[in-house]
Amino acid sequence: MPLNPQELVRPEILAAKAYEVPEAEGMVKLDAMENPYSLPPEMRRELAEVLCGLELNRYPEPTGKKLRDALARRMQVPAGMELLLGNGSDDLIQIITFTLARPGAAMMYPVPTFVMYGANARLSGMKAVAVPLRDDFSLDAGAFVERMRAERPALVFIAYPNNPTGTLYPEEDVLAVLRAAEGVVVLDEAYHVFAQKSFMPRLTEFPNLVVLRTVSKLGLAGIRLGYLAGRPEWIREFNKARQAYNVNALTQAAAIYALEHLEVLEEQAARIRKERAALGAALAALPGVKVVPSEANFLLLRVPDADRADARLRRQGVLVKNLNGPSMPNCLRVTVGTPDENRILLTAFREALQ
Ligand SMILES: *Cc1c(COP(=O)(O)O)cnc(C)c1O
Repeated sequence: MPLNPQELVRPEILAAKAYEVPEAEGMVKLDAMENPYSLPPEMRRELAEVLCGLELNRYPEPTGKKLRDALARRMQVPAGMELLLGNGSDDLIQIITFTLARPGAAMMYPVPTFVMYGANARLSGMKAVAVPLRDDFSLDAGAFVERMRAERPALVFIAYPNNPTGTLYPEEDVLAVLRAAEGVVVLDEAYHVFAQKSFMPRLTEFPNLVVLRTVSKLGLAGIRLGYLAGRPEWIREFNKARQAYNVNALTQAAAIYALEHLEVLEEQAARIRKERAALGAALAALPGVKVVPSEANFLLLRVPDADRADARLRRQGVLVKNLNGPSMPNCLRVTVGTPDENRILLTAFREALQ
């Protein structure tokens, strides 16, 4: 029998594109919102000691009990709420979607936004309802709520702040969505250390709200850890859709160690916030460059010719994210790096705009 995937593979998977990451070896890597700072050497040694003591022949604790307790304390999760851990928040997005994907159910989100929401809707057979942001990437809360009344989505994703725009929607607009919701609303707070705004303390007010976080943008993208906070009634159901050992022993131990030294990562985030302001001002001063105000660790730029600028940046060894397309014409997204990296970016950018 000839091998023919076209006949066997589900059509939505045949139609999908795999997530691709460009080769970054030797580049100044400003495309993926990573924290540019590593842990201080003495912390790295201590962490190695901690990991050294693990029994890797044993399965990890399946729910990450110790880590959940540490997160609940350090991240001020309100009393009465529970946590679910994921292999990155991508894993949790998949778990939530999978759980709520009843036949005919809809997922709603403003666009442009994080691509994983729509990707998971399609893979799980949910109807994806993408509502465009205004031209300046602000949320038209009135229009969004009106659409919610028509579609009655089982699931709404709001990235707070939004990726790839960096925009933090006004609290009132998010509240309007929460009040109108008949389904689950996920506030994706991947960038909360940079925005310093959160709905975590307000979880108790809204029965349909869950707050999604990750340690990736905080400086631990390599360990893959996301966490979801919400009412026990929701967490209980989502927990059933989780793979039994989705957060490995190395990740659990490394995250517990990092939380004991959270102030180190928070100080790095503070440096990045300061650099964001300086880099934003310097980029905005370049001819033809518009910078969207950002509450995250990256900046969205509009340039005269994004494809050309991207190619010229690459040639100079600088990797940014080119978002040029119908919904984001001539837009580039650049991660805030170290002061040295940002200087290299600025110098390369001046050349790239020629
Ligand atoms: C980066 C990002 C994530 C993914 O986080 P991981 O924990 O690394 O999977 C989730 N949501 C948004 C909005 C992001 O920008």
